[in-house]
Amino acid sequence: MTGQPNPAEITLVRGDITKQQVDAIVNAANSSLLGGGGVDGAIHRAGGPEILDACRKLRASRFGKGLPTGQAVATTAGRLAANWVIHTVGPVWSATEDRSALLASCYRESLRVADELGARTVAFPAISTGIYRWPIEDGARIAIETVREATTNVTEVHFVLFDEHAYGAFATALR
Ligand code: ADP
Repeated sequence: MTGQPNPAEITLVRGDITKQQVDAIVNAANSSLLGGGGVDGAIHRAGGPEILDACRKLRASRFGKGLPTGQAVATTAGRLAANWVIHTVGPVWSATEDRSALLASCYRESLRVADELGARTVAFPAISTGIYRWPIEDGARIAIETVREATTNVTEVHFVLFDEHAYGAFATALR
């Protein structure tokens, strides 16, 4: 995509994404949209059953076969401080197949959905770097590059990193 460089300010945060005070929190979901471990489990636990209800409705309508990898869709954020959760499905890491374009697509599509919602501040986790085993250094590079190059009206992007190692990888990628 062409356009102006993304003017969004990128901030790194060490902590729990469910605690972020932003317009939209991005969930590293799986394609079932019906919950899982990691960020997904934390978001459903903290946000309450309204989020799962909304996800079930999406499965009964637009996404009968689940949300495809690399795509994004928004729901209510339930009891979270945010207004919306944007669910996106990262690729599972593969040593034999380059799935980087799908990982980049998660960040780009999430920002596109944020723009549709009118969200200006967005918190991302390090998509695919947990249960889906993407190496954190490479995941961080793709995350930062993609957000920097995206065309969006989002003004603030927070990358929320759970541990010191992930935080360090994002700090290196940001330089
Ligand atoms: P995926 O299935 O896409 O790999 P995970 O949720 O398993 O997603 O992990 C994505 C990243 O989020 C990992 O680096 C993991 O350590 C981190 N993580 C897990 N829980 C939280 C949380 N509550 N807030 C922020 N990051 C988290």
